[in-house]
Amino acid sequence: MWEENVRRVIPYVAGEQPKDKNVIKLNTNECPYPPAPGVEQAAKEMDVDSLRLYPDTESTALTEALASYYGVDPDQVFVGVGSDDVLSMCFLTFFDGKEPVLFPDITYSFYDVWAKLYRIPFRTVPLKEDWTLDVEGFKAPNGGIIFPNPNAPTAVYEDLSVVEEILQANPDSIVIVDEAYIDFGGSSALPLLKKYSNLLVVQTFSKSRSMAGLRIGFCIGSKEMIKCLNDVKFSVNSYTMNMPSQALGVIAVEDDAYFRETTGKIIRTRERVKEELAAIGFSFTDSKTNFLFATHRSVPAKEIFTYLRERNIYVRFWDKPRIGNRLRITIGTDAQMDTLIETLKGMPGIC
Ligand SMILES: *Cc1c(COP(=O)(O)O)cnc(C)c1O
Repeated sequence: MWEENVRRVIPYVAGEQPKDKNVIKLNTNECPYPPAPGVEQAAKEMDVDSLRLYPDTESTALTEALASYYGVDPDQVFVGVGSDDVLSMCFLTFFDGKEPVLFPDITYSFYDVWAKLYRIPFRTVPLKEDWTLDVEGFKAPNGGIIFPNPNAPTAVYEDLSVVEEILQANPDSIVIVDEAYIDFGGSSALPLLKKYSNLLVVQTFSKSRSMAGLRIGFCIGSKEMIKCLNDVKFSVNSYTMNMPSQALGVIAVEDDAYFRETTGKIIRTRERVKEELAAIGFSFTDSKTNFLFATHRSVPAKEIFTYLRERNIYVRFWDKPRIGNRLRITIGTDAQMDTLIETLKGMPGIC
């Protein structure tokens, strides 16, 4: 009869990680370039003997490096095992009210999974017809608000004035902005922290810092909020961040030149690929991310997804309402994108 006592959940489904190295992997928004060069050096020189010891529970060096990079106090920074861990801790910590937590209907599909896991009441606010946020919808009574900016998987970026309007309308709610893709052309809400003590900004090393494999995410907010997060984190697992991630994360943050170079390259590739895909009948939202959310004028997304997959090019497709005729295509290297475009040109019906 133990089944009666089980916490049942329908888990989040991550994009596929194929074993085959020949796959052109444009399905999980990873960065196609390696981490900062200093990371490789430091990994090679790592003091393996120190792995006997538990890591620093507060990730002091990484927290301080992030605080100094973003011009905030170290007490305003919380790091976790990818932003998924940070976000999960945020749901557990900040969303414990009676009113529903609000997030868009089309968004990061982990939000409703955490809400259900932690039994948090929630309500989705439908995006407008053009897939921008319905700001009025976020002015209803709520127990907290979360949305990505730019949004995923739509790639739509909202101006900071929109973020500010939501913050202003909700002085008694925590507003979490998930900025997983902010480094690809948008403006971070971080400067708004000075004006709004209810804002929490979440970011990750997985996309713009080429370190999805190390699992590093962080958030920045008021000292009071970070204290609450730490209290919950230390009630679940003190040693979340392993030692190599802490050490190598610091090196990545410190190499700003490399970070700008790789994000700049991805932005340039994205803009070029947009033109070339448009020329063969694709259209998309105005992406400020490292992916395109594309649809074709005559061939259904699902058929293109299958065609590409059979040719070892993986993109993401969801058979869901409103987005069922869309492909999410990560921006890879120029060479990978050329192969994608050539392959698409060979598909009957595309040109
Ligand atoms: C990728 C992504 C995350 C999670 O990234 P981590 O690898 O866990 O840091 C969070 N939110 C959004 C919107 C994402 O796309």
